Parts: sequence; C-alpha cells; structure tokens
Amino acid sequence: MSAPYPWLETAWRRLLATRARPAQALLLAGPHGVGKGALAQAWAQALLCEAPRPDGSACGGCPACHWFETGAHPDFRRVSLQEKTGKEGETRMATAIEVDQAREAVDFVQLSTYRAGFRVVLVDPADSLNVAAANALLKVLEEPPLNTVFVLVSDQPRRLLPTIRSRCTRVDIGLPPLDLAAQWLAGQGVDDAATLLALSGGTPLDAQRWAESGELDERRSVLDALADPQRIDPVTLGERWKAVSPQAWHNLVYKWLGDLLAVRLRGSVQFNRDFSEALLRLGDKADLAKLLALARAQANEGRVLAHPLNRALQLEAWLVRYRHVFD
Ligand SMILES: [Zn+2]
Repeated sequence: MSAPYPWLETAWRRLLATRARPAQALLLAGPHGVGKGALAQAWAQALLCEAPRPDGSACGGCPACHWFETGAHPDFRRVSLQEKTGKEGETRMATAIEVDQAREAVDFVQLSTYRAGFRVVLVDPADSLNVAAANALLKVLEEPPLNTVFVLVSDQPRRLLPTIRSRCTRVDIGLPPLDLAAQWLAGQGVDDAATLLALSGGTPLDAQRWAESGELDERRSVLDALADPQRIDPVTLGERWKAVSPQAWHNLVYKWLGDLLAVRLRGSVQFNRDFSEALLRLGDKADLAKLLALARAQANEGRVLAHPLNRALQLEAWLVRYRHVFD
C-alpha cells in the first residue's frame, strides 16, 4: 500500500521497514497541512493489522483493520483536543489536552492487550498537551510497556517538553517539492494550484481545503476591504465578518500583515501574490512601528484561538487599529 500522500512515500517506506521493531515513542514533526496526521493513522493501522502485506502496510481486510477503520480497535487510543461546552452552551474545541486524558492513556497501556499484537497511542497535536498532561505521559514514555507504541504528531515540536522530545525518535516531514504538490492538487481537480500553494505557504492540504471550502471567496472579500484601509467601516465589517471562523480570520490576517511587513522591509510579497499591487502601495505607506505591533499581537492571538464573547466588537477594534497603521 502506498503512502497516504505521494510526498510522504520516503517517510512511509522508512517507517514500514521498522515494523518488526518499531520505535516505542515516535514523533512526527513538520509544518501544518502536510499529512502528518494521516501518516500517523496509517502507521497505527499497519502496526495493528493482523495480516500485513509483504511491505508491512495494513491489509485493509482483517478484523483488526475493520475495527481500526470504524474507530473501534480495542488496542488503539487517540488522544486529541476534545470538544467542550462553554459558559453559554456553545460548543468549542478545547485549547489543550488535559491531564485526565493523559492519565486515561497511561492506564490504558498498563492493561494487557485485547489482541496479541501491538497497542498504539496516537497523540495529535502533541504540542497541545498541557504541562500536567505531558508530565503524566512522560512516565510511560520513559519506560513504555512491552509492545506499546506512542505516536506523537506536532506542528510545533519546540513547544513540547524537552524531556518528551528527547524520549522520542523524531521523523521530520518537510514541505513537499512544489511541483509534486501542484501535480497532486491538479489530480484532485484543483484549479490554479500554484496560487493556492503560494497562499498556503506550500502546504498542499491547506491549499486543498481552501479550494474546497469557499474560503477563497471569503478571503477575497476580506482582502479587498483590507486593501483599501481608508474606506474601512469597522462597525459594518465587524458585524459582517463575525461569522468568519477565528482560525480562518487569523490565517488571513496574519499572512496579510506578514506581506505588508515583507513589502515594507524587503519590497516583495510572499503570500498574497494576487494582491501584490495593493500590498506594494500600502506597504510604503504603513507606519512600521504600528505595523510591527499589530503583527506581533496577531502572532500572540494565533496561539490562543478561543471564541471571544463578542466577536464583532473584537473585529471592530482590530479594524480601527489596522486603519491607524496607514494614518
Ligand atoms: Zn489488516
């Protein structure tokens, strides 16, 4: 069986070659949107499969594969961010993996396995483990029980506790070569793969998501407005854009500010090449200190993308601040 995505083939073959004696703590590290999660899933299934193919990959037909694919394999646990109910009854994603989740995983690996093979714990995103959770997990990572495999997935491995990192065999998954990514996107029916890849910073899965989600239209309407700061009406736009997801908003604005800085400092656009003309014009007018402060605030917001109580007001304040960059 081939890798989940063509650019993962080398990493996939290397993992499969270790199937008989897999690393007990594996860290898949690399940028967002390159398929680390899918690779981790495929690896977990390969380990749990009871009739693996000659290359070590999962057969897809045995009972273990069936349980895995339906999320019911008794020797598999996935530790991830959970949905929570907020104060006003709204559903939101937790921002951290909590200690009780880690403890549950620790208890799980102390049990004997249901089937005679491996037991796999997948932690994704591992950089979201809070300190207590990471410490709870550390104890079993130091001496994993027999036939137990931990697979940690992380976009930001530097945020992991150094003690966790040092326990793991690390496999770095880089950005795919642009031509391979563009070819794959075209094969998925995506038009103008090159523009999308530039927008997504070269990550093909983000580019695909953009192409499919209609976020491109949303992006165009947001950037059209940002391109003309003097005409921004913060109240109207705050109200209109409050429905844009905080993650999508952050990605848009962060790259836009990054482009303005790139223009101001180096005279070139990095991400939003289709808005080059506006960016070059605005970059020259921007107050560098104010722009830097706004970009820094945005970078900090990216670390905690919680749902604020009044999104429209928050956007309005941001837009006022953005407008002042060009006063
Ligand atoms: Zn199988």
